[in-house]
Parts: sequence; C-alpha cells; structure tokens
Amino acid sequence: MNPFRRPGSGHEDPPPERPNETDADALARAAADAVDPDQVVRLARELVRIRSVWDEATGADEADAAGFVARTLRDLGLPVHVEEVAPGRPNVIADWHGRGFVAGRDRTLMLEGHTDVVTEGDPANWTRDPYGAELVADPDGGTRLYGRGSADMKGGVAAAIAALAAVQRAAPDLTGRVRVGVVVDEEGMMAGIKHFIAQGWADDVDGAIVCEPEELELCLHQKGAMRVHVHVHGVMAHGAMPYAGVNPIVALTRFLAAVDAFQTEEQERLGVHPYLGLPWLTPTIVRAPVRGEAQVNVMPDGAYAALDVRTVPGQDHEAIHARLVHEADRVAADLPRSRIELDWFESRPWTETAPDDPLVRALESAYEAVLGRSAPYGGVPGATDGTFLHAAGVPIVTVGPGDRTIPHQVDEFVDVESLVAAARLYAAATVRYLAAPAPDAGPRGGRG
Ligand SMILES: [Zn+2]
Repeated sequence: MNPFRRPGSGHEDPPPERPNETDADALARAAADAVDPDQVVRLARELVRIRSVWDEATGADEADAAGFVARTLRDLGLPVHVEEVAPGRPNVIADWHGRGFVAGRDRTLMLEGHTDVVTEGDPANWTRDPYGAELVADPDGGTRLYGRGSADMKGGVAAAIAALAAVQRAAPDLTGRVRVGVVVDEEGMMAGIKHFIAQGWADDVDGAIVCEPEELELCLHQKGAMRVHVHVHGVMAHGAMPYAGVNPIVALTRFLAAVDAFQTEEQERLGVHPYLGLPWLTPTIVRAPVRGEAQVNVMPDGAYAALDVRTVPGQDHEAIHARLVHEADRVAADLPRSRIELDWFESRPWTETAPDDPLVRALESAYEAVLGRSAPYGGVPGATDGTFLHAAGVPIVTVGPGDRTIPHQVDEFVDVESLVAAARLYAAATVRYLAAPAPDAGPRGGRG
C-alpha cells in the first residue's frame, strides 16, 4: 500500500482514527500500566553482565551487548537492522509502528541509547562485582542494581525496550512510529550516532528521547564541548643563556593567562545558565618539554597544553576558536621566533529544545500521569549522542534513570524503582506524543 495515501482516499481500509485528547490520556496510562517491571529489571541485568568496554588493545567491543539488544528486539517481532560502524561495533536499529501509522503524516519518535560502557578500572576498588548485576536492598527500602553501565546506560536501554513492548501491547492501533536506536561509541568519539545520522536514520525522526541517566529530570539543554590541542614552538637553549633561545613555557603561560581572561569575560557576559551553569575554558594538560627528560638547566624547544572548553547557549564554537587563534597570534607576536599552533579536534555544540516542543509537552503530561507530580527540569553537563541528533535537526529531550554523577564511578548502580518509572514514563510519553496530531505534518524525507 502507498504509505503516503491519506486515510479514506482509497478503497483500502482506512487506518484507525487518531484518538482525541481524553482517549490519548487513557491510552498513555494504559501503556504505562502495561510495562512489565520484571522485564525491565531482567533486561538491565542481562545487559550489565555483558562487558561492553571498547578497547582496541584487547579487542573488546560492543558486539555481544548489541547482539543481545538485537535478539531482544527481534523477540518483539520487529525487523532489526544491525549496521557495523567499525569491526565489532554494530549499531542496532528497529522500527515499530502502530496500525494507524501513515508515513508522511504521522510522527516518528526515537528512543536512543548506547551499548558501550567505560572501563570498570581496578575491580579491587569496587565493593560489588562490576559485571555481577547484583540486586541489593538499599537503606531507604528500595533495591539497587549494581554494575558498570547499570546507570550509564544499560538501565535506560532496558527501560526503552520494555516501554516499546508495553506500547505494542497497549496501543497496537497507534498513529505513529517508534524507532529504537542503540548505538556504539558514545563514550568515545560518538561514531555510532554519527553513522546512524549519515545512514539517513535521523531524517524522518520528529523527536528523540535520549535515555541517559539524568535522575529522571527532563533536560532540554545540554552543554557543548570543544577540545583544543595547543602546540607551542620555541628554541632550545641553556638555562644560563635563555637569550640564546626562545622559551615556549613563557609563550604558553601568557597564552593560558589570556584564555583565563577570556573565560572571565565569557562568564560575565553570559552569567549562570539556570540548567547548565557557567561556561568554562579549562586547561587540562600542560607539558614542557613535550617529550623526553625535563632538566632544570635546559629551556625546552616545545610546550603543549590541552583545553577542555564547555559551552552554553549564546556561545559560538567558531567564534571561540577565532578568539583563541587571535590570542595565540598576539602572544607569539610579542615573542619573536615563537609560534603557537591550535588544533581544534572536536566540537560538540550545546543543545536547546523549545519548552513548547510537542515532545516536551508529551513528556510533561506523561510525567504527571505516571509519577503523580509535575516534571522536574535539569541540564546535561556533558555532551551525549543527543548532541549530534540535535545538530541534525531533531528536537531532543534527555531523561533517564540513575544518578547524574554516578556514571564512570566505582560501585555504579541504578535504583530498580527508577528503572521501572523510566519505562513507564517512556511508554506513556510515546503514546502521548504519537497519538497527538502532527501540526506540521509532512514527510521530512529519508526513510519513509
Ligand atoms: Zn551514557
């Protein structure tokens, strides 16, 4: 059948009508109620048990975790796309749509997650087995699931899949499509989501829930990040005769002082963002000499620094880069025969989603229906896969189970109650978002 056929325009059975507001609320509640708590916990535990740290040296990768996700989605009856981003590093993508879905008219919602986890470090520093997926009673009467990736973000992936299963059961006639995308390399260079976008999978996505651990706060803002290598070239000389050379350390300290002054200027200009705080330009590495043994009586020929730049709405990465280049040239001009080279090697822009975006509205109403209180708001301190989805034109909301500060720590855990709450929230928000009419309906192109 022609996917762009309008209902009632042909001789085939028209797809079911969109539910009205009250029906949509009831359906959203039914989807939340259809979440199977045992399924959420079981999926999260099985994922945690699969070590999916990427390590080029040992050959460890995300393949087994991605395989588990693919099998689970196939068990839900979905066609699953497994796309190798790099050897052993597959993205897993699956679509489900309700019987009422009309491509080009109705919305597509993405539920986004990643399979990779950061290293557990020295397991001796853990009080629990990092891959044991132990369930432990916590002092407040709840239950914690322990393990690397429990919060970041196998818990979120489990909640998203369980939510989809609930939506399938409760809302088979839904007028919309859900795309689950579980990608690789979020903790690295985000090659997984970049590949997903390059393959066209984001083209027809109208909104995405990024299931990262954000304490179930609705995050409409994510901080941006830029990484810059600073290479300073001088001329080596004896410490007793510094005039015979050019000291790269002097050039570097002057440059870093200029960076610090620029940071103050930006902080005063922009103030404290309510969800993201202040912008920062932080030197994180300083080396001189860059290689080899340092000696107290030798002025080195080079120096190096790395800058970790964290940006907020109102800042432009190109403009920051231009300013840094300007400061570097100014410092070098004052020190004849010195040279400062900047190598801007990563740019992840900040994101901002409009508070009246239909996805935000759907999550707000789902929050009240499922959790019985109005949604709290937050901001994401670092970049996520959502950064690149946003850059590709997809409105994103980052919301997921787990303490914001627990990822990458030892004894990582997630509260089982928040896992289940997240699955219910995703299920209700999915129905609320997809049951609502798409006012600007029209194909965005790509995979219809
Ligand atoms: Zn994550």
